[in-house]
Order: sequence, then structure tokens, then C-alpha cells
Amino acid sequence: MKNTPIKIGNITIHPGERITVALPTPELYTCTPIYIPIHVIHGKKAGPTLLVCGAMHGDEVNGVAIIQRLLKLRQLNSIKGTLIVVPTINMYGMITMSRNLPDRRDLDGSFPGSESGSYASRLAYFLTQEIFSHITHCIDLHTGEPHITKFPQIKTCTETLETKELANHFQAPVIINTKSEHGLLWLLHRNERPIPTIIYETGEALRLDEKGITMGVRGIVRVMKGLQMLAPLTIKKTPKSIELQKEFWVRAPSSGLCEIFPKIGKYVKKGSLLAKIFDPFGTEQREEIFAPIEGVVIAKNHLPILNEGEPILQIAEMKAVAARSIETWAEDHPVE
Ligand SMILES: [Zn+2]
Repeated sequence: MKNTPIKIGNITIHPGERITVALPTPELYTCTPIYIPIHVIHGKKAGPTLLVCGAMHGDEVNGVAIIQRLLKLRQLNSIKGTLIVVPTINMYGMITMSRNLPDRRDLDGSFPGSESGSYASRLAYFLTQEIFSHITHCIDLHTGEPHITKFPQIKTCTETLETKELANHFQAPVIINTKSEHGLLWLLHRNERPIPTIIYETGEALRLDEKGITMGVRGIVRVMKGLQMLAPLTIKKTPKSIELQKEFWVRAPSSGLCEIFPKIGKYVKKGSLLAKIFDPFGTEQREEIFAPIEGVVIAKNHLPILNEGEPILQIAEMKAVAARSIETWAEDHPVE
């Protein structure tokens, strides 16, 4: 079946066209206009409309690099359906190297937004109308926060079959099944027309994570292949993703200089030593921190000076036998 034209901003894109649209967003009080570049690859034949977006939090640059490499793939010139790619959906955050918008709100938490709401809510509403109204599937690219490295992972709600399939096509080492309705995942549950959405997280903010970027590009291609937007490609097979149901942040019980022992992707036994906290101005050891559950380390804080309550490690609950394939993957693809 032939594809039909779509309109983004004031631009009509016809089947077979590949164009970049500069979508104008509310200008700043300095009269500075801000545009969001959007790449649209509109196949001749009808099919799914996949959105891939990066830098929802403006300091999360791995998604920008993933999209840059994705756009260079020649296979994209003969896709079935439509690929909409937004390298930086939070342009203001990218300029200021911060997560949030000028009103200090989180764009990710502002969807679906409102025409008369806050700056963030209005921008979310505008993006919903201009972009999300066209799509059938979504891949949202994120990283950890500054100093916090994430093991490459897909986060989504796997209760709907289509979303579970999307997550499995990507073939990240782990899939975190989250019940959260925060952020773009609202599309899954609350939209009148549910849109299967997966979040890919890797590395940390303001740093490029080469292994995670390569995996991200391959994952998106696998998803496009799974959705039959692309013809089968020769890609080295990776083991199936392992689905995890429960993750837990270990936090500093007191402030001080923190030495953290396990590497990302490593299995830790319940009760094993995770970290020690020392007095930063003397020799006293203040705390030893032990694993409250057994599982795999899926995020780690690299900042050695911590205040009480700040995160140290994130552990996804898992038995030792199941953790072996993740450990093997992490040894082959070190992420720190
Ligand atoms: Zn993020």
C-alpha cells in the first residue's frame, strides 16, 4: 500500500521524501528563537511511523550521537513507513547543558501538556500535537544523570504484547519492567490510542559511551527490522534480553568520602560489601554498606563525595544463575 503525505510544522512531506524540518518553539525573553530540528524519512510504502528522540533531558548526549550515526545508514533510504528522528527534543536543556527547561520543569514529566499550562507543559502540548499525533511507535533515548552511569538497558512496561515485542527486538542486555507512568510512558497507558514506547538508557549525562552508542544504533535497526520497516540485515546475533522486575537504589546512610566496590554489570550476593564511607577530613571509617538484596548492578555513582541519602548503586534483583549472561556481556563490553 502507498504511503500518504504527512504535515509537520507548516511542511507537507510526501511519500519518498527525506527532509529536515526546523520546528519553531516558544522564544526566550531575550527574543532568542529556538528551533528543534526534526528529520523525517517518509517511505514510499505505508507502514509504521517510528519516532526516535534524544536529549529529552538536555544534558543526555548519548542519544544525540546514536541518532547521528543512525541517520548515516544507507538502508534508511528504502524504508517502509516513516521514521521521525529528533536528535535533541529539549533544545533549551542542550544549550544550558541541563536536564530541564527555562521554568526548571522536566519536559519528560510534562506530557501530554496543556495549551495554557507552564512553559514546559505548553512545549509538551505543542510536541504532542506536532509529532506524537503522527506516530505508532516510539524509542526515547536517555542516559544516567551526571556522575551516574547506567548499564545499557530498556525500560518499559512489558504488560502489553506490542511493547514487550518492541523491547525484545532492541536486544539490550536487560529490560526493566517498570510500572511507572512518568514521562513519555504516559503514551503507553493513558493515550486514547496507546503507542508502544521503550526507553533506552546507557552511560551518563554529558559523556559519550561508545559501547552504549553502538548498541543503541543496532537496537534501533533491529526494532525497525522487527516492525518490517527495514529488510533483514546481517547483524551479529546477541543473547536475548533478560527481563527484570524489581530494582533498588542503595543510598548513602551518612555523608562522607565514599569508596564503591562492585563494577557495573556485576552480580552481588545479599549481604556482600558494596561500599565504605570515610570521614573526608580525618581517618575515621563511618559506615560499611552491604547489599540488601542479591542482583546485578545496573547503575553506579562515580562521585566520591556524597551527602546522606544520595545514591550509591542501583541493584536489579536477580539470582546468580540468571546473572551470569549479564556478567559475561559486561566483561566483553565494559561500560566504565
Ligand atoms: Zn533522561
